[in-house]
Amino acid sequence: MRVRKEEPLNDLPRTRLYVGSPLGPALSVPLTPTQTHHLNIVLRKNAGDAIRLFNGQDGEWLARLDRIGRSGATATVDRRLRPQTPAPDLCLLATPLKRGRMEWLVEKATELGVAEIQLILTMNTDAPRPKVDKLAIHAVEAAQQCERLDVPVLHPPAELARVLAGWPKARPLAVAAERAPSSGVPPENLAEVARRHPGGPAGLLVGPEGGLTVSELDDLRDLPFVALVGLGPRILRAETAALAALACWQCLAGDGSVSPPLRSVSTTGAC
Ligand code: SAM
Repeated sequence: MRVRKEEPLNDLPRTRLYVGSPLGPALSVPLTPTQTHHLNIVLRKNAGDAIRLFNGQDGEWLARLDRIGRSGATATVDRRLRPQTPAPDLCLLATPLKRGRMEWLVEKATELGVAEIQLILTMNTDAPRPKVDKLAIHAVEAAQQCERLDVPVLHPPAELARVLAGWPKARPLAVAAERAPSSGVPPENLAEVARRHPGGPAGLLVGPEGGLTVSELDDLRDLPFVALVGLGPRILRAETAALAALACWQCLAGDGSVSPPLRSVSTTGAC
């Protein structure tokens, strides 16, 4: 098999954009007004400058701006830098949070490689329902910055019971629970649950600031695909719990052992 080194990031343009168009040799890609403004006014890019593009399907490509101005910008695709590789099928179930913490959570969960974020409404959810299209902007920006090849899917808020009713029975769901349900059986160690499901699809659920109620925990505990998990003896804020759980899961069952492209070597030769 032909072994081919990826190009070192140092030699590649730092500007990396997520686009909605197909990517392939010599294809012309229109950039959005926001992307055009950023390239033109903030980064002061010119026609001929190189950028990188990805669309969540065709891998990452080198491209050159062939037109840029106040009226818009287009880039012409040159060559593929990285083939598309599947991301771990990991879904974060989280409740809306107040005062900018939701945006922060979306950004950090994107960096930690979630495939989906499902917003859930629980009995103690008291934050206003966020606008998913605004949150999606944070996911795109984080994906562009962190070198991932796709952008997580954001699902609008839905009642917890409805989400659980549609949950695939073969997909494990680890529910962060700082206290035992009424049965008194303590939550498991997250690491032990993660090690039982290496590489497979999974979900992590974190409750609201007010916590999951005892009846919600009881209902969750009764579901065959659910494991209640603890994250240590301290009470974490919801976003801290989500990130701790995601990082732990990725290290033990996800892509925690894969290096960023800067240092990795592709053995596929598929570029
Ligand atoms: N209201 C609760 C209280 O004061 O006891 C705390 C809820 S906590 C701020 C928000 C969520 O983070 C919880 O519902 C749970 O999912 C998760 N969480 C926080 N600390 C945790 C821990 N030590 N173990 C597991 N989950 C935790």
